[in-house]
Amino acid sequence: MVTTQRTRAVVRYIEAGSSAECVQCRSAVQFRARIRVQQVICNVYVDGKWARVEHYHRDCYDEAGHPHGAPDESQPLRPRTRAAVAAA
Ligand SMILES: [Zn+2]
Repeated sequence: MVTTQRTRAVVRYIEAGSSAECVQCRSAVQFRARIRVQQVICNVYVDGKWARVEHYHRDCYDEAGHPHGAPDESQPLRPRTRAAVAAA
């Protein structure tokens, strides 16, 4: 059985300190207090090898037509982050 690493797109909330640039609109994917903005992070594999990480705003990824497939929205928050939001 051959396991080929594939490009994956996952939805995450943008965290403080993020300084990524959106591939689609070329503006910063920035954390904003009080607004929980989602981003899509794509680990891009070329020929089965990891090539790069691409960041998109959630809306931009939809506008781009899901270039790396439908994003996985099952884990938008890590448990620790979820607890911090609940306590705020
Ligand atoms: Zn964007």
